[in-house]
Amino acid sequence: MNVLVINAGSSSLKYQFLNALSGDVLARGNAERIGLKDSLIKHSLNGAPAIKIPVDMPNHKVAVQAVLSALTSEKHGVIKDMDEIDAVGHRVVHGGEKFASSVLITPEVKRAIRSCFELAPLHNPPNMTGIEACEEAMPGVPQVAVFDTAFHQTMPSKAYIYALPYELYEKHGIRRYGFHGTSHAYVSQRAAALLEKPYDKLKIISCHLGNGSSIAAIRYGRCVDTSMGFTPLAGICMGTRCGDIDPAIVTFLMEKEKLDPHGVDNLMNKDSGVFGISGVSSDFRDLYTAAGEGNKRASLALDLFKYQCRKYIGAYAAAMGGVDAVVFTAGIGENTVDIRQGACEGLDYMGIQLDPYKNTAVKSREAVVSTDESPVKVLVIPTNEELAIARETAQICGAQM
Ligand code: AMP
Repeated sequence: MNVLVINAGSSSLKYQFLNALSGDVLARGNAERIGLKDSLIKHSLNGAPAIKIPVDMPNHKVAVQAVLSALTSEKHGVIKDMDEIDAVGHRVVHGGEKFASSVLITPEVKRAIRSCFELAPLHNPPNMTGIEACEEAMPGVPQVAVFDTAFHQTMPSKAYIYALPYELYEKHGIRRYGFHGTSHAYVSQRAAALLEKPYDKLKIISCHLGNGSSIAAIRYGRCVDTSMGFTPLAGICMGTRCGDIDPAIVTFLMEKEKLDPHGVDNLMNKDSGVFGISGVSSDFRDLYTAAGEGNKRASLALDLFKYQCRKYIGAYAAAMGGVDAVVFTAGIGENTVDIRQGACEGLDYMGIQLDPYKNTAVKSREAVVSTDESPVKVLVIPTNEELAIARETAQICGAQM
């Protein structure tokens, strides 16, 4: 079954066209600068370097049509006809409490996604624009919504309720939702497969460490806690996001720095995290270079990040009454030996024994990096959200997997 996976942003539309069964990626790309001057599609076939196709894309509808033209074009296409697209899988950031799993998109589902707009004002509206553009361009082709929040809907209320007046949860839906669910689900399932253990018998801590980072506690195949919260700002410190801070700092800052809600929100989302501490960069490669040159604030940012990962691993082992496997994924988790080492440092007493040689040897590939004797297995598993979305889509559409 060939699935077109769509991740629509406000001015971009990322796509991957893949075989959901084999996982083979036939084409991938990004329609960039939608609604702006000089819009273009970066399109790549079978892993080849991307070619740039300049095309005027005033809106997402035209962008979807341009993507379909690229996929079916004689010059750089992979299919003869649009009929070869069996289904479309859409990444939708927020499903609120309405969606605990992926769904076939119907008018009712679209109404429910719209009702989550105020929970994710930057993401859900463009996600919906992508859905409607695909519906128009491919009438009759099944469309499936896969939510970032759905995997975390199994959290018990004690993990998702904030200690605020309960009425605010009822009135505004203020609670922990968690994000990166598709990634946490994918890598934790892969971990069980690699360890050749039943998924529903394992306690797994999954560390998705990228530009945005979150950690999840997955007990017997169900998420029981996660570090991101009502929004993706919570949890461990990130590239430019502050993660958990004393909430009283917000009003203190508004007063002292004369910031309005937008200003303080901007400060916590865009000017903070390892970038805010180091003053150098949000990219860990730059931080290591700076730290190597003696930049103390870059070293502090790296130390803090490792320390916070370690704290969450300890907390989630306590939350689950033990842990069988710790998984590292995403840009930092897959590539950064020192972060994995720092996140596991001193946790031998919990049975987490990283093998320094194996850890050093692994970059961006699936591997166990704990010692053979380690009671808790540590794994590196590159995430593949597109494949996970394609598989969910195929499953919903009833394909024989
Ligand atoms: P992601 O959001 O998963 O794409 O992760 C992006 C982040 O991963 C970047 O901002 C870097 O901090 C980090 N990253 C990516 N590649 C490497 C690498 N080879 N070494 C260290 N950090 C990396």
